[in-house]
Amino acid sequence: MNIILMGCPGAGKGTQSAKLLQTFPLHHISTGDVLRAEIASGSPLGKQLGEIVNKGNLVPDELMVQMLEKIVKSTDKGIIFDGFPRTVPQAEALDAMMQRLNRAITHVIMIDLPAEEVVNRICSRRQCKKCGAILRVDIKNPLEKCSACGGELYTRPDDTPERATHRLEVYRNSTLPVKNYYQTSGKYVEVNGNQTPEKVFEDITKILEK
Ligand code: AMP
Repeated sequence: MNIILMGCPGAGKGTQSAKLLQTFPLHHISTGDVLRAEIASGSPLGKQLGEIVNKGNLVPDELMVQMLEKIVKSTDKGIIFDGFPRTVPQAEALDAMMQRLNRAITHVIMIDLPAEEVVNRICSRRQCKKCGAILRVDIKNPLEKCSACGGELYTRPDDTPERATHRLEVYRNSTLPVKNYYQTSGKYVEVNGNQTPEKVFEDITKILEK
């Protein structure tokens, strides 16, 4: 099984990936996490990436494809692609890479969320520094500690209202065309992302167990 999880920012790709990993023996590649780790390392590349990512823009395709190929080659397990591909050239490069490596994408799952939900969701998102859990908080009275492990919570620098609005725009312009790319592949399915995470997971599991 090699699954692409698609969806706008805040749709729940990270949350659903974490749930999938508890049930299926898959390797999770979140390109956002890979980029954030490089930025946090403070390397010269990380500094350049920070300029792009923290503004909510997309990292150039060629660099993303190179980073991804290294990770794909490092595992024999089935993969959850979370946050990749984000452009049609990335989708084309992924197809070519998978073919070269004798692998294939088996499912493209779009977590569908109404645009009016997106900015709210993103701005109420917090991530735990310790266990990585992604939580939604009440913006007026936000939690300070992770409800799962008590770790410190942080807000991603690209999760402000202005940047969330910009990321949604980037998504519409660059990533939505990826949906058309896969729609005729026979692998593309949509799930309603405007439900509890448990219900979304149930819907995804049904698709994978078919
Ligand atoms: P995410 O954690 O998936 O929301 O990604 C956070 C940010 O990382 C995005 O807003 C982009 O700046 C960058 N990013 C993640 N994946 C990609 C990708 N496949 N192509 C280009 N930029 C990416």
